[in-house]
Amino acid sequence: MIPFRDTYRDIPLYSPARKPCRVDLSDNTNLFGAPPSADRVLREEGLQHLARYPASYAPELKRAVAAFAGVAVENVTTGCGSDDVIDCALRAFLEPGDAVAFPDPTFVMVPLFARLSALRPVPVPLREDLSLDVDGLLATGAKLIYVCTPNNPTGTVAARAALERLVDRAPGVVLIDQAYVEFSRGGDFMDLARTRPNVLVTRTMSKAFGLAGLRVGWAVGAPALVAEVEKARGPYKHTALGEAVAVSALAEDVAWMEACAAEAVENRERLRGGLKVLGLEPLPSEANFLLVPVPEARRVGEAMRERNVNVRVFEGLAGVGDALRIGCGPWPLMATALKALKEAL
Ligand code: PMP
Repeated sequence: MIPFRDTYRDIPLYSPARKPCRVDLSDNTNLFGAPPSADRVLREEGLQHLARYPASYAPELKRAVAAFAGVAVENVTTGCGSDDVIDCALRAFLEPGDAVAFPDPTFVMVPLFARLSALRPVPVPLREDLSLDVDGLLATGAKLIYVCTPNNPTGTVAARAALERLVDRAPGVVLIDQAYVEFSRGGDFMDLARTRPNVLVTRTMSKAFGLAGLRVGWAVGAPALVAEVEKARGPYKHTALGEAVAVSALAEDVAWMEACAAEAVENRERLRGGLKVLGLEPLPSEANFLLVPVPEARRVGEAMRERNVNVRVFEGLAGVGDALRIGCGPWPLMATALKALKEAL
């Protein structure tokens, strides 16, 4: 018998329903496609980036992120998607057996990453109005508190006063996941990453920037925090190609990204209207998706898949119950989803 790790025995692979569907609204990516400069970089430089290793610790990408975020290079760390940055941060700041606290419901990978590093996931339910339970999070005593805002899967945002109180009183690091910040109004907490010693804000190129396939994420924080995450990440977490495309997107495609995000938000609210006509009550959202409480969500999701529309099914979410999460993008996709949902209900 091979002596596998005890703590890994019950850990599943991450496996969202991925039956290929013509319309896939399940992963909150940019449904308008990839940024314009990617085409040029791939055509003009693609082959140059294949035979040799990339520069270690992604210096070009860090420079581009620093310019984009208005911080110094020493404030930036990067990773293979923001998944990787979160995973590295958990390893960097916690010893095996330590607690990771997070609101529930939130991004499903957080408890999974915690278990992969032999940490203790400690969920703290959101309050009834889906606001943060700051005292509950603090009461865990966790040396790392994760908060996602706008939150996946609810789409709701943390109030600034609540988050600032959490940051001021937390005994350790507060990791603020802003994967969906480009879709929110006034929900940007980068200023806390710039000014507080214990805040790391993670961001991604996978959502608004349309580069999920290249796996590029980044974070901003105090240089001392960032240096610890860099130790945990290893030198070659990006492909050279991914780094080159992300650099060009950050420099050249911000207006394109903002236009896509604005249209996704407009269509999200139009979709909300259509869902209300079906008698449904989507949660308020500042992300590029709507969470829609729907009884028997698994059955309804399956019936939508049979109609070639993939949405994310959640069963028994804390404080919400069964629900569907529908990613937002071009209106024709939303119209197809509405029709499939109407037939599936
Ligand atoms: N954070 C949140 C809240 C997410 O929803 C996701 C993607 N599902 C990620 C982080 C990770 O994205 P990526 O690794 O592609 O940057």
